[in-house]
Amino acid sequence: MDFAAYVRDIKDFPKQGVIFKDITPLLNNPEALARACEALCGFTTNMKIDKVVGVDSRGFIFAPMLAERLQAGFVPVRKKGKLPYKTVSESYDLEYGSETLEIHTDAIKKGEKVLIHDDVLATGGTASAVCKLVEKLGGEVVQCNFLVELTFLDGAKKLNGYQIEALLQY
Ligand code: 5GP
Repeated sequence: MDFAAYVRDIKDFPKQGVIFKDITPLLNNPEALARACEALCGFTTNMKIDKVVGVDSRGFIFAPMLAERLQAGFVPVRKKGKLPYKTVSESYDLEYGSETLEIHTDAIKKGEKVLIHDDVLATGGTASAVCKLVEKLGGEVVQCNFLVELTFLDGAKKLNGYQIEALLQY
């Protein structure tokens, strides 16, 4: 399926100079949604996955669907202050300022195999912080998968050593 036909460019969102990849047309189309989910699951064929980690907030769309299909648990990684129980956190630099992500301390057990999912891999700062959170809890990151990889931003470099998969590359 031509997934690219269901991702549109939004100029100057969320700020001037950024071309934002909007995945909502893909979510809106029943066949594209089902096929995308199937294709993301296909990246993990023959892999044992205990937990699927979804990243706040667009990672929450597919990660639970993947978890259900892979017979794994779903774990939310959220921005600081949103999770109710005990957390560990990881901060990383953004273009302006910084961001802190958190995960519940009991979300992943030592040695569990973890799939990380987010909608878009851009500079890789977010995904690399999520890998660190999983590893702080003793989990093993077996793959990071994305709907879209913006290859010109070199995010894969920051995720050196991890298996990276994406449905679409720009
Ligand atoms: P990074 O940390 O790799 O620079 O940015 C990735 C994060 O920013 C992801 O959580 C993703 O949701 C968001 N993001 C960055 N650029 C885009 C974009 O063009 N489209 C969408 N949908 N999300 C983006």
